[in-house]
Amino acid sequence: MKTIMGLEIHVHLLSKSKLFCNTPANYEGKEPNDNTCPVCLGFPGSKPQFNKKVLESATMVAKALDCDISPAMFFSRKSYFYPDMPKNFQITQYEIPIARNGHLKISNKKITIGRIQIEEDPGKLVHVGGGITNAQYVLIDYNRAGIPLIEIVTEPDFENVQEVREFLSKLQSILEHLEVYDSSKEASLRVDANISLEGGERVEIKNITGFASVEKALNYEIIRQQNLVRMGMKVERETRHFDEITKATSTLRKKETEEDYGYIFEPDLPQFNVSEKFVKSIEAKMPELPDARVKRFVEEYSIPENQSQIIVYTDKALADFFEDCVKSFDKPEYISRWIVTDLLKVLNWNNQTIRQSKLTPKIFVEFLKTMDKGDITERLGKELIKELVPTGKSIKELIKEKGVPKKIDLEDVVKEVIKENKNAVDDYKSGNEKSIQFLIGQVLRKTKSAGDPNKIREQIKKLI
Ligand SMILES: [Zn+2]
Repeated sequence: MKTIMGLEIHVHLLSKSKLFCNTPANYEGKEPNDNTCPVCLGFPGSKPQFNKKVLESATMVAKALDCDISPAMFFSRKSYFYPDMPKNFQITQYEIPIARNGHLKISNKKITIGRIQIEEDPGKLVHVGGGITNAQYVLIDYNRAGIPLIEIVTEPDFENVQEVREFLSKLQSILEHLEVYDSSKEASLRVDANISLEGGERVEIKNITGFASVEKALNYEIIRQQNLVRMGMKVERETRHFDEITKATSTLRKKETEEDYGYIFEPDLPQFNVSEKFVKSIEAKMPELPDARVKRFVEEYSIPENQSQIIVYTDKALADFFEDCVKSFDKPEYISRWIVTDLLKVLNWNNQTIRQSKLTPKIFVEFLKTMDKGDITERLGKELIKELVPTGKSIKELIKEKGVPKKIDLEDVVKEVIKENKNAVDDYKSGNEKSIQFLIGQVLRKTKSAGDPNKIREQIKKLI
């Protein structure tokens, strides 16, 4: 059974103030409902004013996703049935959004972006004493109400979860490179996913936050629908909720139809013209995008393309980190290899991004140089990096703590090992090549893994 999936991605656009008023967009550390004004609380008589800065960021995203920009756009009111929107309607775009007909290329296909629209975020519902379906009561915090969002709507082009994963990480990297979005902010990217099996009804899963949750929700839902079909039952058209704790989806409501939303033009806002000149001025300001950066890394630093992709698409901060390291240590291939293998592994274990970890380019370069000089082996390096990342200690500090000799006289140790292992030495002399491995192992034991095995091998051969 073929799976068909489409996404609606809601992204908080970075902005000083909310979309239609002067209330700050940053509400961190504020008491609930402290970050509001009559406009974002929807008081009668209050009038929205469009924050034009948002038009710039939205146009940038639209251009990066290869969209057609509408020469004129306007806003509409969408009926809203839940208490997190104080006006009981949401100001959004319906008839003519800012952009249409774009695409984003992933490895095996192009995903079509149907439309991008600008809209205001609702407030936040806090469910007390239970989850979304069984809470004792619900609190409402309007601090977030009115934050500028763009909604990016894809066509149902995805056939499996891997494609969704690749698309989302690429999209996130683009948004970060454009500097219009901050992934570390609460709920700054939320996904609604439509899923159906070929020929079946479409189910929408609302408001999934975090890429890992998107994957879990989709995997769960695909299997649920497949099981229904196998049992001869029908998949019902509905909206479902993904529970972060049970990792399951459950019915939220039977899906409303477009008519239920009762779109009308927003009479308090005029039509906005988006001139060609304006779009050109935005294009001129566009920073380097991830695809171009991947290519440049391959050309400029001669690193393998798959490593370049991993570094750039993991997140912008990691790509910046890589370039910072290269500035003070001219061995890009060496740096890249350590980033895509051990560094990413350790970040994953710690469930951290590079920005959240305590590792700085300076500490990382110092660490790599220590290995490069042969003061510690790569094998020991693989152990030490596990502490380097979460603690932010320098390699010198770690070596001191772990008792690894900073400099050892390799010759002395080798002499000692030769003296203590006469049999192995004789074996080697009589042609048993393998004995030298044993001798190298003995040397490494004494040096607590410090020293390059190849250098030790040469030294042994010289002294035997
Ligand atoms: Zn306000």
